[in-house]
Amino acid sequence: GNMLEGYVPFPEEFAARYRRLGYWETKTFGERLDEWAARYGERTALVSGEQRLSYAELRSRALRLAAGLAGLGVRREDRVLVQLPNTWEFVVLSLALFRLGALPIMALPAHHGAEILRLLQFSDAVAYCGPASWRGFDYAAMIGDIAPQAPALKHVLIVGAGFDEIARTPEGPLPEGPRPEDVLLFMLSGGTTGLPKLIAHTHEDYACVMNHATALAGLAADSVFLAVLPVSHNFTFATPGVLGALSRGARLVLSPTPSPESAFPLIERERVTNTGCTPAVAIQWLESPLRAKHDLSSLRAMLVGGSRLPAEVAKRIEREIGATVQQIYGMAEGLNNLTRLDDAEELRLDTQGRPACPADEVRIVGPDGSPVAPGEPGELLTRGPYTVRGYWRAPEQNAQAFTADGFYRSGDLVCATPSGNFRVEGRIKDLINRGGEKISAEEIEGLMLRHPAVRNAAAVAMPCRVMGERVCACVIRRPEASLTLDELRGFLARAGIAHFKLPERLELMENFPLTAVGKVSKKALREGVAAKLAAAA
Ligand code: AMP
Repeated sequence: GNMLEGYVPFPEEFAARYRRLGYWETKTFGERLDEWAARYGERTALVSGEQRLSYAELRSRALRLAAGLAGLGVRREDRVLVQLPNTWEFVVLSLALFRLGALPIMALPAHHGAEILRLLQFSDAVAYCGPASWRGFDYAAMIGDIAPQAPALKHVLIVGAGFDEIARTPEGPLPEGPRPEDVLLFMLSGGTTGLPKLIAHTHEDYACVMNHATALAGLAADSVFLAVLPVSHNFTFATPGVLGALSRGARLVLSPTPSPESAFPLIERERVTNTGCTPAVAIQWLESPLRAKHDLSSLRAMLVGGSRLPAEVAKRIEREIGATVQQIYGMAEGLNNLTRLDDAEELRLDTQGRPACPADEVRIVGPDGSPVAPGEPGELLTRGPYTVRGYWRAPEQNAQAFTADGFYRSGDLVCATPSGNFRVEGRIKDLINRGGEKISAEEIEGLMLRHPAVRNAAAVAMPCRVMGERVCACVIRRPEASLTLDELRGFLARAGIAHFKLPERLELMENFPLTAVGKVSKKALREGVAAKLAAAA
């Protein structure tokens, strides 16, 4: 069995069944990398800025970096905090860690000191890898500031400095790698609590979702896949994303940002056939005047997910960009639903798909936990061959987030259409989904309450045509105190959190609406803000 402390394993009878039915292949990602290089050798694997790497070069760079990391003393099960933008270094580092059995923690470049420190402390990571600076933020300074508070941290590898040196290590013998049932990596949960929740996937379970999503997306050796969202998101990394493209001998093109300015020239130059984005990015693309200046006609299909895609936007993508829309409703914890490329138009445009793997199990339940009537909305619960059975090192949270028989409570309200495809109708978890980035209301509220002018605070979603939702801060001030949105944002930014979490509106209030049981009614707050915005428009 899996030995990593704090990991919640699949029950043995499930593991045995997933292997017997072929959903789990007894193979590691190190072995997959060897296979890819053997099969696709001189074909272009990766395009990143000026770099073009063949499959053989990609493998060789990964093995050299692995040798360098092993030389530093990085071992199996050691955690390595990875905070890299969409660059070849990210891909090579991930593959090197997979080969060693060291475990990347996939942080976002948007994360700042407070989030990174919590992850380092929570995971006892031995190494951090990030850029020197990127989009105006100094990561080297950030990690320098927080490193003294992370006692397990031994190595800081900055791209352009220490990382490059280690990456130049000559190829050499490597220690024995991990086993297929071992943990492969940690994804971050788009969680509802202030604390980080880490999602541990194994080699076997992660390959399962990668393979199913890649097959459904139709990626093959003649595909060119453009990664535009952050590669450290599950969506961009493996469903099908980076790993899916590499597993089929496709060409993977990395765009530094999803903006039309960086993505459109790459689509034109590389003749990109497939990409994946959020509804917010799709809207930016549709509305960009640059669309007329670039040939996007090579695009065959666009995966869209992370937040709910309005049907009108889906229709415009198909009509105006000429790519088939493939909706994806997934979660880093596991379950991924996709519309099929050959689904009827109404399903493609107006549902969020159905489970990727035949062994995925879904229940839609009411507040009492019993199944709703067919077609009625309810909370989606799920378990299956790539849905984790618990967060890492989080027994208390797991008792809430998972049922006794191992189903993950998604917190999403969905209904099943007669076709079997789901429609996402809302959510019961307390988070804000800003263009696909999840923001925990509790985290922002906890920080706001530290501000001297704040007596009580609530963070709620307000509607946004492009982002879907944005953060609105509802605040009751202390008597005599003053507070502006800018002050509040500055205060939160100085606390060291990602910029995308900062409130974009401040509602000063005398008191908060309460529910029947006397709790702050987030629903009433949300509706109040939405009504104000509508009236102002
Ligand atoms: P994450 O694990 O960060 O990818 O967040 C997963 C959550 O994002 C899901 O539980 C949903 O709340 C939301 N989500 C993902 N895809 C979609 C979609 N296509 N439509 C609506 N919500 C989505």
